[in-house]
Amino acid sequence: MEPTLTAYGAAKTVTGSCHLLAYQGRQILIDCGLYQGEAEAQNHAPFGFDPRAIEAVVVTHAHLDHIGRLPRLIREGYRGPVYATEPTLLLARPILEDALKLMLEEIHRAERKGKPAPELLWNEDDLHALYERFSPWPYYQRFAVGPFEIEFRNAGHLPGSAIVVVEVGGRRVVFSGDLGNRRKEVLPDPDYPPQADLVVSEGTYGDRNHKPLQATLEEFARIMARALGRGGKVLIPAFAMERAQEVLFYLREFESVGRIPVHPVYVDSPLTTRVTEVFERVRGAFSFKVQQLYARGIDPFQPQQLHHTASVEESKAINDLEGPATIIAGSGMLSGGRILHHLRHHLPDPRASLILVGYQPRGGLGRRLIDGETPIRIHGHSVPVRAEVHTLGGFSGHADRDELLDWLEVASNVVLVHGEADKLERMASGLWERKKRATLAEFGRAIPLGT
Ligand SMILES: [Zn+2]
Repeated sequence: MEPTLTAYGAAKTVTGSCHLLAYQGRQILIDCGLYQGEAEAQNHAPFGFDPRAIEAVVVTHAHLDHIGRLPRLIREGYRGPVYATEPTLLLARPILEDALKLMLEEIHRAERKGKPAPELLWNEDDLHALYERFSPWPYYQRFAVGPFEIEFRNAGHLPGSAIVVVEVGGRRVVFSGDLGNRRKEVLPDPDYPPQADLVVSEGTYGDRNHKPLQATLEEFARIMARALGRGGKVLIPAFAMERAQEVLFYLREFESVGRIPVHPVYVDSPLTTRVTEVFERVRGAFSFKVQQLYARGIDPFQPQQLHHTASVEESKAINDLEGPATIIAGSGMLSGGRILHHLRHHLPDPRASLILVGYQPRGGLGRRLIDGETPIRIHGHSVPVRAEVHTLGGFSGHADRDELLDWLEVASNVVLVHGEADKLERMASGLWERKKRATLAEFGRAIPLGT
């Protein structure tokens, strides 16, 4: 019998990554992520396999859409190890703990309003039981789980992010995980995959290329200098893991070469603060440039006047401060979090600027601001928008179309996951043009590794 691969998540969608490898009745899982956004309801659906029959879980990186259902796996009887690189396992903790906090807040909110509360997917006990299963493993060192020989290689997407190579039953399969953007300065470039019978590749940006990073940085520095010169506040909504720190990295750089004045920078996100603390502990997982700064005693993610605010009171106090300042807060997609009260305060101020550095979904507040909507409603208030609104496209954490095609150069047989169906189809036709076999994974359909 051929070994098989089956997708139980991220099939024709971006979130919920979960892939099962089976051979002679033995099974391992690659990732067990949360569905997010429109697909959220699927988190409560059955996994599609028996968690008790899985021998090991191998995790590519610490984003919630790759780890967020691990505690549920434990809740449903999984008792094996969870293998990942050490940075991934260190970063997974604050991310999962924050996810639990958000789930509990949502339930309390529903109860207060007398609405039916969503069922809690997993609790603190499940989380602690999960931590007991954590088994750190370095890059480039093979390990075996039954007939599966497994190796991590660098994916350049987050500190510790991994491409996973598995050999089983005389076949080799490569999982791209989320593949990093080669232009990123803070992370090392992703490794290329070895020859394989099958490559399971992400295709988030399978239909387009990113703006060049240099042009983005020029624009970023120019907007910052102008906004600070006006004496206004600069608001930057950012994801707590990696994007927020990348913004801090460039603010420090701009200050150090005099592109922008030294000014107060507030990180108003307890999760960002926790993740930044982990970054310091895993400095070996960053690019050479970042490591060199650390070696010279410089914190690469620390502009000169950096403040981390912990309490809600401290957060609110930022808005009473006079003079220019940068405020970095979540959520990155403006769907909630502390950024909303900063927006409510500063959007009416023509000296202020809002800089969007991450993806803004259609219909979301960020997209409506880009489209010039005014006034907008925040927390039940009508807020006139007089601040400048900018959007910067070059910071993506994912490989773009050309990078994916380049990365897949050695592949002959590709299964596409982790992307919206139309984007994956565009990616598949690009691969067909290059005389490769390419298909889209379908939920629950087993694919033989060698055909
Ligand atoms: Zn990711």
